Amino acid sequence: MILNTKITFAIKSSESKYLIVETDMFKIKNLHDKIHFLNVKIKNKDIMFQIECPLCEKNHKYIYPINNFINKDLLIGGCETLNAPLFLLGKEKSVRKMVKLYENINSEIYDSTIK
Ligand SMILES: [Zn+2]
Repeated sequence: MILNTKITFAIKSSESKYLIVETDMFKIKNLHDKIHFLNVKIKNKDIMFQIECPLCEKNHKYIYPINNFINKDLLIGGCETLNAPLFLLGKEKSVRKMVKLYENINSEIYDSTIK
């Protein structure tokens, strides 16, 4: 079995647009270089994401077992304060598909409020 360690990470910026970064499972800590409000730590068999939320400005913490990444196409983390999706990670195809969907929803909501 060939293990695909590529990971795509997408996070909502304050303008309800998503920032998409492609990386590798083994370089996941380096996401911080591209997304400064995100910190990634690996402890035992867990990955911890610490995010200074661009939506509500509070700190959120997410812990996932590393195995989850290997078995899943898509993980979605939400802003606990606003109860809204904040970031997505997983296989590129799945992440990009969801981002497109979310951005469409957002633009529709936006359009209807300015009419
Ligand atoms: Zn938040």
